[in-house]
Amino acid sequence: MAKPMMTINQEYYDMITRVEEQLPEARGRIRLAYISLLKGDTEKTLELCDEILAMKAEFKEIEFLKAEAYFNLGTEEDLDKSLEIIEKLKEKDPADKDIVVMEGKIYHSKQDYQKAIDTLLSVVPLEAYEPYVYLTLANALDRTGRSEEALRFYHMDIEYFIETGDIKDPGMLEGAFQNAMCLDVTLEPYSLRRDLDAYKKFLISTENLDEDLQKYVAQTIILLSRFIDRKWVRKLFSELLDYIDERVPLMSLAEFTVKTGHSSVESYNIREDKNISAFTDAYYGNVSGYVHYCMELKVSEEYDDHKSEIGEDEVHVLKLNYLTYNWYMCKYYEDHKKEMDYLKEHYPYMREMFKDIFVRIETDKDAYMLELVDGIREEYFILQKDKLSRNSIREDLSGGFAQVLIEKKAKIQVQGGGVIIRSTDPCPCGSGLRYRDCCGRIG
Ligand SMILES: [Zn+2]
Repeated sequence: MAKPMMTINQEYYDMITRVEEQLPEARGRIRLAYISLLKGDTEKTLELCDEILAMKAEFKEIEFLKAEAYFNLGTEEDLDKSLEIIEKLKEKDPADKDIVVMEGKIYHSKQDYQKAIDTLLSVVPLEAYEPYVYLTLANALDRTGRSEEALRFYHMDIEYFIETGDIKDPGMLEGAFQNAMCLDVTLEPYSLRRDLDAYKKFLISTENLDEDLQKYVAQTIILLSRFIDRKWVRKLFSELLDYIDERVPLMSLAEFTVKTGHSSVESYNIREDKNISAFTDAYYGNVSGYVHYCMELKVSEEYDDHKSEIGEDEVHVLKLNYLTYNWYMCKYYEDHKKEMDYLKEHYPYMREMFKDIFVRIETDKDAYMLELVDGIREEYFILQKDKLSRNSIREDLSGGFAQVLIEKKAKIQVQGGGVIIRSTDPCPCGSGLRYRDCCGRIG
């Protein structure tokens, strides 16, 4: 979960002033103790709390602050210390909701999700909105398999934003959106449009998405792209990407993710497009793995922590497929100019991603084919420890190409699970049409 990024507002200063009035001689220390915590200087806060508590024992607010400081440090030992303080405070004042909320947050951090749920359920719905409560509760529910209930609480953070436009903590709200939207797909299809619309508003309300937030956005895009086998999700997803392109300035990682998202949408659309042959569909399917891998590598040079999860052998397999299908494309291209022009026009993101290849096919095909054969020979040697002659590779390629040409398009397998949309229901993409007349149309 995101780190707290609360801003110091008037409300907070007023609260500090009220605490100071209880012990005027420690005024400066009290203020500094609170401010240090916000600035992340937790050790300083703890030191000051002990000094203040030496002047006035059983100072509830300062004990609470001390518990917060230990909570922020976050090791198992610190969390236990935090919990110990909170439990003492709760004994004295069981009706104090702030204390109960804190207790729930500590249990959540200790990964004691059941206790976190029991504790936090006793304070919701909140009378006055507070960040973290719903998200923490939702996350605990999610982790214990209670996803319907989790979704309800993720939605409460989103509803607060829809109603007020207020963003207490952008990282936290992003988390609520990310989780809610992924659960919407299977549990509440009709909420996805509303959540996406709110998410778009959120993306432009937060001036200059910082680096962390951009990473969350990139992650959200990647997670949502896993559901685009459903046509109605694909439609909404594609709208989100267009919106981001137009309105949200992004840095390279997130920008790359958006481009990849666009081309994923296209790759699904290609399958359903009668003007695109089974060969071309298979071509993109086989070439894109390696192209994505190469682009990810480029991104990882900018973000040290972004590592590819693909193993070395797998990369060689991807590359072998990539080289093989490009050789096929060299053969296919000339006799299918019309289809290729159609492709260029209707699938611009894929064409952009594969631009270099097509330039070579168009301008310098023979030399390119030679290079491909040599590349295949090399990869084959790495994978199989077998040195093949160029001619035998060409023979294999010709046979493979003939085989690929007669294969039919593979059907999209839609992931199952969740709410079933009946054909007479309105389409969850929000078009207003019946599902069977819109995204649910067969063929
Ligand atoms: Zn639809």
